[in-house]
Amino acid sequence: MKNFKVNLSQLMFLIGTMLVVDNVIAQDSEPVIQANTTLKLTDSVYVIPDNFVRLVPNVGIVVGEEATLIIDTGLGPRNGATVLEEARRVSNNSTLYVVATHFHPEHTLGVEGLGPEVIFIAPNIQAEEMKNGDRLKNQFARRSTVAAELLRNVSYPTPDIFFDNDYVLDLGGLTVRLIQTGPLHTRGDTLILIEEESVLFSGDVLMQGVFPSFDAENSSYANWLLALDEISVLNPEIIVGAHGGVGEKTLISDWKQLLTSVAESVGQLKAEGLSQSQASRRLLDEISGKYPQWRSDARRINAAVQVVYREH
Ligand SMILES: [Zn+2]
Repeated sequence: MKNFKVNLSQLMFLIGTMLVVDNVIAQDSEPVIQANTTLKLTDSVYVIPDNFVRLVPNVGIVVGEEATLIIDTGLGPRNGATVLEEARRVSNNSTLYVVATHFHPEHTLGVEGLGPEVIFIAPNIQAEEMKNGDRLKNQFARRSTVAAELLRNVSYPTPDIFFDNDYVLDLGGLTVRLIQTGPLHTRGDTLILIEEESVLFSGDVLMQGVFPSFDAENSSYANWLLALDEISVLNPEIIVGAHGGVGEKTLISDWKQLLTSVAESVGQLKAEGLSQSQASRRLLDEISGKYPQWRSDARRINAAVQVVYREH
């Protein structure tokens, strides 16, 4: 916990801004990372916030004494180049690493924009997912003209360092643990813990102000709850999901409760004989009643229902 210092007023400002931005401009904004918006979370950890814009991730910049780590890259090399510029504002380390919380296009396809020297670290399973990721990339490109432009002629990057479950990266005076924890949102979900400053980049495994996004084929509520238990053990003070606001430790128990109650409600609907689409409509009503400020997302709700119907 040495060097641990949260700039609380900045954080509160960030969260306040997000609440205003959420659902106002976020719905129709393009997937472009905004330069000059980087916020300092602790002595060595920065975030470029997504402002709840679709297909934009929260990007982490972690600055050690000898090397800098980027967490997630944005969609396409142009966004990656913006991330590199932001990293250069807060660090002059020449060694640059990058890791993605998962293989989806807005997290990995900006790696090229970070320059040829960047060292990309990925779990083996994420590398495998990228090899089979073209269909998803093409789907993303069809979302808008800007998305298509950002993804033109872009291929998934090839990792320089591979690992299986756990990898420890020394940035110089700063220890970063990479923990592969899928299948949850994807098979290769990866958590990134900055140990000395107690900050966790939690990917889509834990997000503030956003409904969970299940991998409908591969994930399960039971595994997700186990992953949340693992996160409790890591005991992070600050939690930055791949999308949404910056959270505190309480986010872990909030999500445990959320996942448990969703699984229970949907299990009940299945027992009553409702079809999956009927159950999805009911769950959507329930969630928008409980969390009116959340963006309603039929795709995520459908996936959450599908997992319960498959598991029971
Ligand atoms: Zn994703």
